[in-house]
Amino acid sequence: MVKTVAIIGAGMSGLAAVKGCLEDGLEPTCFERTAGIGGLWRFTENAEDDCPSIYKSLVSNASKEMMCFTHFQLMKHIQLKTTVCHVQRHSDFSMTGKWVIVTKTGEESNTAIFDAVMICTGQYIQPVLPLESFPGIDKFRGKVFHSRHYKRPVGFDGKKVLIIGMGNTGVDISTELCTRTSQVYLSTKRGVCVLRRLGEEGYPLDLSFITRFRNYIHCSLPTALARLSASRYANQQFNHSLYNIQTESILSKELLVNEELPSRILAGLIIMKPGVTRFTETSAHFADGTSIDDLDVVIFATGYDITFPFLEESVIKMDPSKGFLYKKMFPVNLQKPTIAFIGFIQPIGAIAVTAELQCRWATKFFKGLVKMPSTEEMKDYLAEDEKLRLKWFETTQQNWRRTNYIKYVDDLAADINVKPNIWKLILTDPVLGFKMFFGPINGYQYRLTGPHKWIGAREAILTQWDRIEKPLRTRGMKKPCSSLFTFLPSLMPWFLCIVALCAAILIKG
Ligand SMILES: Cc1cc2nc3c(=O)[nH]c(=O)nc-3n(C[C@H](O)[C@H](O)[C@H](O)COP(=O)(O)OP(=O)(O)OC[C@H]3O[C@@H](n4cnc5c(N)ncnc54)[C@H](O)[C@@H]3O)c2cc1C
Repeated sequence: MVKTVAIIGAGMSGLAAVKGCLEDGLEPTCFERTAGIGGLWRFTENAEDDCPSIYKSLVSNASKEMMCFTHFQLMKHIQLKTTVCHVQRHSDFSMTGKWVIVTKTGEESNTAIFDAVMICTGQYIQPVLPLESFPGIDKFRGKVFHSRHYKRPVGFDGKKVLIIGMGNTGVDISTELCTRTSQVYLSTKRGVCVLRRLGEEGYPLDLSFITRFRNYIHCSLPTALARLSASRYANQQFNHSLYNIQTESILSKELLVNEELPSRILAGLIIMKPGVTRFTETSAHFADGTSIDDLDVVIFATGYDITFPFLEESVIKMDPSKGFLYKKMFPVNLQKPTIAFIGFIQPIGAIAVTAELQCRWATKFFKGLVKMPSTEEMKDYLAEDEKLRLKWFETTQQNWRRTNYIKYVDDLAADINVKPNIWKLILTDPVLGFKMFFGPINGYQYRLTGPHKWIGAREAILTQWDRIEKPLRTRGMKKPCSSLFTFLPSLMPWFLCIVALCAAILIKG
């Protein structure tokens, strides 16, 4: 039986892991390399080696009600400035499932044995800097660096800057820098789908976008219709083709949240470019035959690789397309499933809810309250997951961490008996039920019922719109009418869609 758990990393996933362990009566010890908790969200003036790094102006894509945890009191279980150097299976692993953990605090090394391990080291430590794919970059005389070293828009005044890569980071840096530089160029081979942070009536987009209602419609529609509707939604904000950033297939790449990109392109402050073919000492050349001369800076916003340098290689059978983790958490081929990977997921939703549920699932499993299926069944899970990714994202290439957020968290919750029964709620507590069906999915929804439920969960759900509106009501003016009802007219097209779908099914059947 598992009792002691080593948790590696005290970012959002690690904190949720400590809490999950305490709730289930396990003994967590969390090791954190840096001097503080928070992981990626702990800003430092300079990028520290082997640590996640963000820029000063970074704003979360997910709104506060989606990014919050339920409650904590964890510091005494966390050892700061302690790096985990090795994680190895104990010599009697096949019998006990135990692990040997070697840590370093300053110059001092320590070895300890744990019953289980939760890896919470994050996805953004090992930068990808593919210089070998850019002929001539070694001769380029300007400044070249990876986006993890970008902190503030200082030192770029009047410079010509090329940013390679159009993920969230590349676009954030472009829109921030372009007001200082003489010109920003943004290079992308594949384009991207950009959503604005502001949704209906100026409420944060995720509150109306990541709801059970929308997910239900999205999953019920035939795939082609669902893609068409997603594409229509994205292009209603601005036409991606007009701005020359369209993707071949809308959902194949992660969606990006940025408010300013279209207006910056429209103002000419950002010029879109295709892939780079080569560099010279002072210029960059592109796939369409164009070039930029007198270039000063090249920033590679080319993302990150996931690595686990402290872990035995045989534990990780990483396949970027097929995945290797059951429920995106447990390696499928291990004799004893006493190691869980937390937070290695790319949901269209908040990491806080996902990580918290993953941890609750893992600790319940360690406690013996959830059953692990056979290896064959786990492999079936991976195959099914691959099929679903093909359906949802039009490809299975390099996307094992992606999933349908709501289905994923609801499935985890169902396994550990904390999934709310929406239909029952609509009948027995209609105000709450409707708010949960049409409103955002956040952590409180999984604290309403089941083990470790929270007495304040219902109130927290009912009052979340007040908390969202509160920071905006600084002039003491009257509160607007309820957000649920302001959203209702915008739900009409969806309602008509369901009616049409039902009618079609009835006529056909
Ligand atoms: C630019 C950017 C913007 C993002 N915006 C959002 C957003 O808006 N919403 C969202 O949900 N997600 C966002 N993310 C994803 C982000 O990864 C998560 O929000 C969150 O930080 C993940 O938490 P984590 O605990 O899994 O990992 P991290 O926050 O990366 O924490 C990992 C921790 O592990 C520690 N660690 C690593 N190796 C060791 C070791 N060997 N020994 C000891 N400690 C170790 C690190 O020091 C770190 O503290 C963003 C990511 C980036 C890069």
